Amino acid sequence: MSAPLPGPQVPASAVRTPVVASRTCSVCLKNPLQGEQTACSPACRRERSRQRVAERQQLRDAEVLALLEHAERLEGRAAELRGQARRRLAAPLGLPEAKR
Ligand SMILES: [Zn+2]
Repeated sequence: MSAPLPGPQVPASAVRTPVVASRTCSVCLKNPLQGEQTACSPACRRERSRQRVAERQQLRDAEVLALLEHAERLEGRAAELRGQARRRLAAPLGLPEAKR
């Protein structure tokens, strides 16, 4: 065995590691992250998980609020339709219109 065979041609962009060292903790925005870390310390990890819970809670609250508003609109529309139906049903009976 003399000269080593050239390895497969891999484009340089594929070799580059996707995440390079200079990342900063997204919680405290101060400490650098090591390797696969997503938070610099247990405290930051706890804080981040607390934030996520709060975020989810906010999303749920917003969803419930939107549903309540929708339900209120439907109730309003239902009342309107009931009123219309009542007037329509009352009209052929010759009930006084002037009572309005
Ligand atoms: Zn941190």
